[in-house]
Amino acid sequence: MKFCPDCGTKLSDKYNSSEKKPIPYCLPCRKFCFPSFSCAVIAAVINSDQNQTLLIKHKNDNDLLLLSGFIERGENAEQALCRECREEVGITLNCFKMCSSWYFAPDNTLIIGFWAITENDTLSPNYTEIDNAAWFSFDDAMQAVKKNTLAQTSLVKLLNDFQKNKPSACG
Ligand SMILES: [Zn+2]
Repeated sequence: MKFCPDCGTKLSDKYNSSEKKPIPYCLPCRKFCFPSFSCAVIAAVINSDQNQTLLIKHKNDNDLLLLSGFIERGENAEQALCRECREEVGITLNCFKMCSSWYFAPDNTLIIGFWAITENDTLSPNYTEIDNAAWFSFDDAMQAVKKNTLAQTSLVKLLNDFQKNKPSACG
């Protein structure tokens, strides 16, 4: 970052007490300007029988993806997850666990990964954004996502974590 996002002043380097390298600093605003990036959530959403996972095909996209969405200002990751589940496919979550995160350079976004178990399995996709949303067996889902993508990497990691740590009694 070269200029202050608030006032546009050219930033100078300054050390603060906790960082070992200089941080860009705005003199007029008297604040450090740490690198900025977006935050998002991604989830392996799992049906109530705990044997299928949700994949979504968005409009103008040929790939099947996991449920995901940007975190809005003022939200925590858990709130964003629950909101995206509600808005994209109309489901309420029974329980969920945060398990991993990825930095996705093309979008300059830190993506926080969850597995999440739904309370009921009826999907009501928001068809203004989504072409199709459906439950897949874990094996079919692994086959259906595009290889060497974040969708594949995250699905493998999240389902592995789910199978190791799934709750005996959910909710
Ligand atoms: Zn400034």
